[in-house]
Amino acid sequence: MKIYNTQSKRKEEFVPLQPGKVSMYVCGPTVYNFIHIGNARPMIVFDTVRRYMEHKGYEVNFVSNFTDVDDKIIAKAIEEGVSAQEISERYIAECKKDMAGMNVKPATTHPLATQEIGGMIEMIATLIEKGYAYDVDGTVYFRTRKFDEYGKLSHKNLDDLRGGNRSLLVTGEDQKEDPLDFVLWKPKKEGEPSWPSPWSDGRPGWHIECSVMAKKYLGEEIDIHAGGEDLIFPHHENEIAQSECCNGKTFAKYWMHNAFLNIDNRKMSKSLGNFFTVREISEKYDLQVLRFFMLSAHYRSPLNFSAELMESSKNALERIRNAVSNLSYLEQAADRQEMSGTEEAQMDEVRAFGVKFDEAMDDDFNTADAIAAVFELVKYANSSVTAANSKAFIEAVRGEITGLCDILGIIAQEKEELLDEEIEKLIEERQAARKAKDFARADAIRGELLEKGITLLDTREGVKWKRA
Ligand code: AMP
Ligand code: ZN
Repeated sequence: MKIYNTQSKRKEEFVPLQPGKVSMYVCGPTVYNFIHIGNARPMIVFDTVRRYMEHKGYEVNFVSNFTDVDDKIIAKAIEEGVSAQEISERYIAECKKDMAGMNVKPATTHPLATQEIGGMIEMIATLIEKGYAYDVDGTVYFRTRKFDEYGKLSHKNLDDLRGGNRSLLVTGEDQKEDPLDFVLWKPKKEGEPSWPSPWSDGRPGWHIECSVMAKKYLGEEIDIHAGGEDLIFPHHENEIAQSECCNGKTFAKYWMHNAFLNIDNRKMSKSLGNFFTVREISEKYDLQVLRFFMLSAHYRSPLNFSAELMESSKNALERIRNAVSNLSYLEQAADRQEMSGTEEAQMDEVRAFGVKFDEAMDDDFNTADAIAAVFELVKYANSSVTAANSKAFIEAVRGEITGLCDILGIIAQEKEELLDEEIEKLIEERQAARKAKDFARADAIRGELLEKGITLLDTREGVKWKRA
C-alpha cells in the first residue's frame, strides 16, 4: 500500500511502526458552529482511509480531537451570553450527528482540549527545561530557531520566513525573541476560560493541544497524522517542533493532507462566508450522496462543489442501489440454492473487480478509480446475473458490491425497518420451525432478523427481542 507523504513529497510504501497496527491522528474541528462541508472533507476522506486499513486487517487506533477552547468559541459565547463550554458542547453534539449522517465512524477516542490541560502544562514545562521555550510575563513562546529541522514538513526556508514575518510584527508581540516564535501558553483576558499554570492563569495555544493529545492517546511516535492542507503550515510544522523537541523522537511517519473543497474555485470557509453546512445539505440530499461526491475525486485534488456534481453523485449512487435491490429480488426469485461449477468459476471474474478496487486504494487511496471498479461490477451484475442463477451466486455478487461500498463507507443497501408485528410474526415462524425440528429454517430467521438489526434473546419466559 502506498501513501503520499507531504513531508517527502512522494508516495511511500506503508510500513506500520508495529506490525498489524495503525495509529492515526486527524486534527478535528473547532466547535463554534455547525460544521460546513469543507470540514466534512477530511472527516470523510480519513474515515475512508481508516476503513480501508481495517479491511486490510489492521487494527486502527484512530484519534481525532475537538478544539473546544478558542477565540471563536469565546466570541460566540459572548455574543449569545452563555458559557464557552455551552457553545462547544452544543456543537460537538451537532457535529457527531452530522458524522453519523455521513457514516463517519466515531474515533477510537475523541479527546477534548479542555480535558487535557495538565498534559499541556507538562509538555510546555519540559520544553522550557530543555531550552526550547521561554516565558515572558506569563506568555510562553516556542523558540523556533532552536529546532534545526523547522520547516521540514512545509518545505519552508527559515530565513525566508523570518524575513517575511518581521513586517508582520504586531504590537504586543515585540516581547518575542524572534518573530517566528509561536505561543504555547497565553494569559487570560477578562471573562475568558482559564486554568492555573506556573506561568499565568491562562490557556494553551492551539498547536500544543494536538501534540499532547496525540502523545497521550497514541504515543510519542505515530504512523499517520492527517488534516486539511491549510494545516501544513504553521499548525503541523509547529506540532512537529513541539513533539520532537519534547520527546526526542520522530513524531509522525506519514503526513497526509486533503486538498480543499472549493466553491466557484475558492476555498469554502466560514470567514469567506461561501459555505454550506452539512445540516443544510442534509435537507436536500441523503448525506450518503455527499459522501459519494467527496470520494468521487482523489483526496489530494481540489474539488469544486456544485449542484450538478451533487445531482450526478445522486444518480450514480442510485444506480448502485438499484443494482443491489434488483439482485435481492432475483435472489428471492431464484429456484436453485447451491452454486454450479460454472458459477464457481464465474466467481473469479466477480472477485477480480474487488482486486481492481484494492489496487486503486493501494495507490494512495484512489477512491475515484475504486468507485469505477464498483461500477464495472454493477454493470456485470446488471448484464450477467438473472433468476436462472443460484441463490448462492446472486448473494455472492450482491455481497461483493455491498462489501466494496462498505469499505468506502457507502451504504448500498438500506436496512429495511421491520414493523413490530412483522418481527413478532417471524419469531412465531421460528418457534414453529424449531418445534418441527427444522433448525436450519429457525437459524435462517434469526439471521434474517439480525441483518435487520433485531437481536433475539431466548429466555425462560419465552423469546424476547430488541432493536440494535
Ligand atoms: P477548522 O475547524 O477550520 O480547524 O477545520 C477543521 C478541518 O477541516 C481541518 O482539517 C481543515 O483543514 C479542514 N477544512 C476546512 N475548510 C476546508 C475546505 N474548504 N476543504 C477541505 N478541508 C477543509
Ligand atoms: Zn492539530
